[in-house]
Amino acid sequence: KGFWRLFKLSVSVDTDPGKDCLHVSDALLQQIAKVLEFPVASMLPPEAFTVLRKSFDARKSQKEPKFVYTVELDVEKLLNLEPRTWDFISRLEPKIGLIEHTPHERVVGDVVSIIHDNKKTNHDRFTGVNGHSGSLSSSKVPVTKKPKIAVVGSGPAGLFASLVLAEFGVDVTLIERGQPVEKRGRDIGALVVRKILQSESNFCFGEGGAGTWSDGKLVTRIGRNSGSVLSVMKTFVRFGAPESILIDGKPHLGTDRLIPLLRNFRQHLQDVGVNIRFGTRVDDLIVENGHVVGVNVSDSSGSLQFSSEKLGFDAVVLAVGHSARDVYQMLLSHNTELIPKDFAVGLRVEHPQELINIIQYSKLANEVRNGRGKIPVADYKVVEYVQGDDNNAPFTSQRSCYSFCMCPGGQVVVTSINPSELCINGMSFSRRSSKWANAALAVTVSPKDFNSLNFHGPLAGVEFQREFEQRAATMGGGNFVVPVQTVKDFMNNKLSATTVPSSSYRLGVKAANLHELFPIHITEALQHSISTFDQELPGFISNDALLHGVETRTSSPVQIPRNPDTFESTSLGGLYPVGEGAGYAGGIVSAAVDGMYAGFALAKKLDLYEDDV
Ligand code: FAD
Repeated sequence: KGFWRLFKLSVSVDTDPGKDCLHVSDALLQQIAKVLEFPVASMLPPEAFTVLRKSFDARKSQKEPKFVYTVELDVEKLLNLEPRTWDFISRLEPKIGLIEHTPHERVVGDVVSIIHDNKKTNHDRFTGVNGHSGSLSSSKVPVTKKPKIAVVGSGPAGLFASLVLAEFGVDVTLIERGQPVEKRGRDIGALVVRKILQSESNFCFGEGGAGTWSDGKLVTRIGRNSGSVLSVMKTFVRFGAPESILIDGKPHLGTDRLIPLLRNFRQHLQDVGVNIRFGTRVDDLIVENGHVVGVNVSDSSGSLQFSSEKLGFDAVVLAVGHSARDVYQMLLSHNTELIPKDFAVGLRVEHPQELINIIQYSKLANEVRNGRGKIPVADYKVVEYVQGDDNNAPFTSQRSCYSFCMCPGGQVVVTSINPSELCINGMSFSRRSSKWANAALAVTVSPKDFNSLNFHGPLAGVEFQREFEQRAATMGGGNFVVPVQTVKDFMNNKLSATTVPSSSYRLGVKAANLHELFPIHITEALQHSISTFDQELPGFISNDALLHGVETRTSSPVQIPRNPDTFESTSLGGLYPVGEGAGYAGGIVSAAVDGMYAGFALAKKLDLYEDDV
């Protein structure tokens, strides 16, 4: 009895039912039988097998593209086979790389179920009768009310922190400077169509955070199969994401699926008592004796329902993302420690999607059929390490240049929150059916680079970002027009003709020489890497490929030090910095995981559950 895992089961494109089919097909059963050395595939009961992962493998090292599965076998279910197959089962042996005897990791549940299973049973905890103190400021003093926690920011980190705390019974107020998705959608529409930027409701600010109008890629570098990632993914499923995200090798949602998911998330938070305040910006922390005891907020909705307000809390979870530069300034005014950190800057490259399909799939490219075909719209991931030149400071160490946040079938969007600064990113819808493929090409930078441009201090990285965003805005000529150059011309340091290839970017593009944007060592690192990417993906350097400037907000330029166990800031009591803006995440899933862990850490401090979850 037990569970066995079968890896690397490959099924040809011809025989596989296609990318959206996640059940055990006849073709997959044939492969399973082959690996198990079971003579008659049709005698294997499909219900004994569960697909755990399905990926599309189009690497050039393969003879031809194929679907690759990981499947779990429930040995007990094979026992229904007729007796002579018992002999076969007893001969099943682990084969390296193919079969592994592992416990069933899918038992990890979504966040809500995990908490329900771990909550203490003492419902009178906050009554002050026999319960422990719920207060964070004075330990073990009976109190008559629930602890009050503010969560600032409704991105993935803030949503998951709010969810965990509310499920444990904490009195949570979720404060978001932007608007709920319905109104935010209209504000983004006005930006894209009429170039009207709402400084508090845009691609960065609003319900769901920076990743709402995004590609919704749920890939993460923090361990795809870890319990924490699985419970975040299951929570997304609970709130409406398709179950396929639990199995897809490269799961993604797309904006059209993220929006209803967020509405369901919001409804659940309200059902468990979270007070959500949209259009409300935290301007300052109220600090007494080195401890945060509340926040000053103001109306950021423009409707001026209130001007400013002081709100008292026992602790504040700060999940504001990395575009809230005003918050970094505010933290410095309280002498909170902020440390500049490495990140990456670069350009966003866009190719016709058809070209990427052909580069990746050759003749199978026809099967893609605008996202409706059997095989997924092609993507790519490239990386190159560039050795520095010791004589050319600060280009002294190894840098990497890599593709990042690739959006197949997507579009380039403006993520500025201020018209004098221009920065871009990418988004897509679930079908990824646009005719373009875009990705950031980013080069790592460190505090040495910031210093070389005379930016010093904790926010040197922010100043470094701003410098290139302002240059890009000037090069585009204002009004969110993006400076562009064909990849070929960039490689030859030549201004592109005024008529550049068409772009998915809807606010206008203008031919410019992007060599004028970055210091020479960043430009050279990009040129060098692009030439190696072209060897890996022949055709990458093309007259139809367009580089857009500028991609600066790849991850946070700052880290806010915190205690690794309690998540509390090391320099300001009662402040819990989480997510990407605090320097502990880089993407939707990792930000959600960080917010979730912060919620558990706070719940533990409040003595709301017995053991580690
Ligand atoms: P954020 O999502 O940035 O959320 C912070 C929230 O805090 C915002 O809603 C903001 O309005 C609010 N806030 C800020 N200051 C205040 C204040 N003073 N008062 C009240 N509220 C405040 N990642 C992926 O993994 N996959 C993708 O496909 C992907 N695509 C992206 C596409 C775009 C266009 C962008 C911009 C980002 C994309 N990312 C993607 C990155 C991802 O969105 C972020 O890594 C993630 O959202 C970070 O989560 P967070 O909760 O830490 O912060």
